[in-house]
Amino acid sequence: MKKRVMIIGLDCATPQLVFDRWLDDLPNIKSLIEGGIWGKLRSTDPPITVPAWMSMMTSKDPGTLGFYGLRNRVDYSYDKMSTANSTFVKEPTVWDILSERGKKVILIGVPQTYPPKPVNGEMVTCFLTPSTDKQFTYPASFKDEVQRVTGGYILDAVGFRADEEEKDRVLKTIYDMTEKRFRLARHMVETRSDWDFFMMVEMGPDRIHHMFWKYTDPDHPKYVAGNKYESCIYDYYKFVDSRIGELLAKLDEETSVLIVSDHGARAMVGGVCFNEWLINEGYLVLKSRPAAPAPVEKCDVDWSQTKAWGSGGYYARLMINVKGREPQGVIERGAEYEGIRAELIEKLRALPDHNGNLMDTQVVRPEDVYKEVRGVPPDLFVYFGNLAWRSVGSIWPAQPESVYTFENDTGPDDANHDYHGIFIMRERPGEQSLQAEGLNLKDVAPTVLSLLGEAVPADMEGKVRTRDHLGKD
Ligand SMILES: [Zn+2]
Repeated sequence: MKKRVMIIGLDCATPQLVFDRWLDDLPNIKSLIEGGIWGKLRSTDPPITVPAWMSMMTSKDPGTLGFYGLRNRVDYSYDKMSTANSTFVKEPTVWDILSERGKKVILIGVPQTYPPKPVNGEMVTCFLTPSTDKQFTYPASFKDEVQRVTGGYILDAVGFRADEEEKDRVLKTIYDMTEKRFRLARHMVETRSDWDFFMMVEMGPDRIHHMFWKYTDPDHPKYVAGNKYESCIYDYYKFVDSRIGELLAKLDEETSVLIVSDHGARAMVGGVCFNEWLINEGYLVLKSRPAAPAPVEKCDVDWSQTKAWGSGGYYARLMINVKGREPQGVIERGAEYEGIRAELIEKLRALPDHNGNLMDTQVVRPEDVYKEVRGVPPDLFVYFGNLAWRSVGSIWPAQPESVYTFENDTGPDDANHDYHGIFIMRERPGEQSLQAEGLNLKDVAPTVLSLLGEAVPADMEGKVRTRDHLGKD
């Protein structure tokens, strides 16, 4: 029998639910853990879908990849941003390497694969695809089969940040999306015999966490016991587990199976209005306030007086207005730049929460966590409350009374991302369970190549984590 590897990616599947709370009710995932290597999987800095999946599949950190989030600065101007789609990925992925070596691959929904690039095999692109009217498969002719098998493929649960009355609709869409994706995966396993590497990524866990976390987590500030959605994330995990079981039943014993996620999730306590804080602290100066809440790029900023500005999201990016780099930069490179970064790091780490308690905000310098720093990185990453709080980038029409907010500027959202996702790998049936420590997302690509008996490129940054290699390095 042919040696193969299948990766089932579950975007945002989080260790405290899968490993700690619900494992006994997830029999298929549990069976892989009982016969495999498993553990928490450290995500990228920042722990965000883009760049995390591509970091995983290239074994390169975001600094080497040159993109740091879904939206990135194009250059050092104040307002030019672009979305990091597949054209931003210049490092070879596992499937690029395998394709080049004549191995056959099948990809379904791996983030940042839109627009599709040629592979030695077949591909359905990801949640970044604008619609199924676009070319979302490789080869193009594969599209008709995808649509026929799924009855209309669903790329993403669109509008997942819906208000209360829309929740039922969104929940149904998440289930439909997941059902169709697994149906397609089963179809591919049934009808294709020559693949070496198969990878699918299901976005549903991420969408359901962000939409429904507060209903299910007693630690969430907005949790109400006995609400109608109390078991909805649990029910969905059980549903996903059953679909995983159906897929596993179609594989032979020579197929190694991995279940991985790109980051975890945790309750979101609230948001910090980052730019309002920078205004209060004198780093950001406006000429006038906007008529409606607006991001910095849309505001009338006095750049000649501005030292730093920020952006919103599950983490914050902080940019410094550097002379000779930004169009109206004011901070000199060298000592002044390092001085203001050190000052901001100190202030942010000392930031209290809305109750006056230390928030435990983490601040990261890109060059401290990456091997190389390419593209246009932020000058600092900020994880408010160690990721319990999000960053709210909007500037308000009037100065708010507090920089803390419990409403999100981009729609309802109950969960933030967390540093660790999950890693489960059964190389072959009948082996013992082994919990591994210190697993990193970048370990996945070299591990896959090793399982397939393929040489690992020397510039991959992760380690091979097969049973033979664990504990040897
Ligand atoms: Zn994700």
